[in-house]
Amino acid sequence: MTRVLVLNCGSSSLKYRLFEGDAAVVASGIVERIGEDEPGAPRDHAEALSTAMAGLPLEGLTAVGHRVVHGGLTFTAPAVVDDAVLAAIAELVPLAPLHNPANLAGIEVARALLPGVPQVAVFDTAFHRTLSPAASTYAIDAATAERYGIHRYGFHGTSHAIVSRRTAALLGRPLAEVNTVTLHLGNGASACAVEGGRSVATSMGLSPLEGLVMGTRSGDLDPAIIFHLHRVAGLPLGEIDDLLNRRSGLAGLAGVNDMRTLLARRASGDGAAALAFEVYCRRIRSYVGAYYAQLGRLDAITFTAGVGENAPAVRAAALAGLDRLGIVVDPVRNDAPDRGARVISPPDAPVAVCVVPTDEEWEIARQTLGVVAP
Ligand code: ADP
Repeated sequence: MTRVLVLNCGSSSLKYRLFEGDAAVVASGIVERIGEDEPGAPRDHAEALSTAMAGLPLEGLTAVGHRVVHGGLTFTAPAVVDDAVLAAIAELVPLAPLHNPANLAGIEVARALLPGVPQVAVFDTAFHRTLSPAASTYAIDAATAERYGIHRYGFHGTSHAIVSRRTAALLGRPLAEVNTVTLHLGNGASACAVEGGRSVATSMGLSPLEGLVMGTRSGDLDPAIIFHLHRVAGLPLGEIDDLLNRRSGLAGLAGVNDMRTLLARRASGDGAAALAFEVYCRRIRSYVGAYYAQLGRLDAITFTAGVGENAPAVRAAALAGLDRLGIVVDPVRNDAPDRGARVISPPDAPVAVCVVPTDEEWEIARQTLGVVAP
């Protein structure tokens, strides 16, 4: 029986899940406040992982699968960790200054605590390495882009991969024949056009800032806004970075990043919440239209993650008015309190609108097994 420990290390938190055999979750949890100067807070990732591991049945562990946010252009698939892989992940730190160092810390600690157990890095970017040059190239000076790695990398790859696969399964069709737009709407949010299982367009780019409106990130904007804030408002670049990443999106527009609170405020007549909701849904609709055009033929649109799985109002508003494109949401199906993978369009609709729960941890475990025990 295989047993895979999946680790997702952030700068101050460590999430873990232990899988056995096909999909059974044996244990899972989260250790938070790593490195915070508070009583009881773990000193560092090593202490956090030791604490987490103390209660886990780790005998006969097959492998550890690590979520690594940025794999650049180097990693097109999961990689068994060795010194060269670690060095390559470290080289990508300038592209993901918040994420990759924490991911690296997790790998180093797990390596030290579990000697002899294969460690596998699974990259958020890898699924998008099938993007064509036309889809992944920014229209800026080519030499500058080449020199500084300015490129559309894309993120949330494990989620878009599992959700597009499960959409095909839900529709009872071979993955290779299904074209899907997947909408991962969590705190971070991204859209992906998946053609027969391959990512052909995605809304996050060099970093997770681009694309859809998110909890605290702006998503797409005119880059001149940055120059304007710097020149006219006198904001230093670090502050603009913070503004766009942590004080924009739903939080910037309505003062809350949590969709549940936003929906409650909108229902009670809060104008700022209503506008934020409209801006959020309009951006999703724009991407659906754009990706429909890129795919040429669209079989399914799939909502996933916290908002996508749980907010019927967002699903209905985002796809409203698209009947002429064959996109219709059935109000009864959409509002049903179902949890599992399901279709929410009418039975005869040309485009199946679906809700499919994501499971990034399981996808990391699956990909990890794929390289160590194929
Ligand atoms: P993360 O990106 O941190 O993994 P999640 O996928 O858990 O995020 O999504 C978090 C978002 O999902 C939050 O904005 C939260 O408000 C939203 N959400 C969770 N449950 C509901 C719900 N029942 N209705 C509306 N939004 C929800």
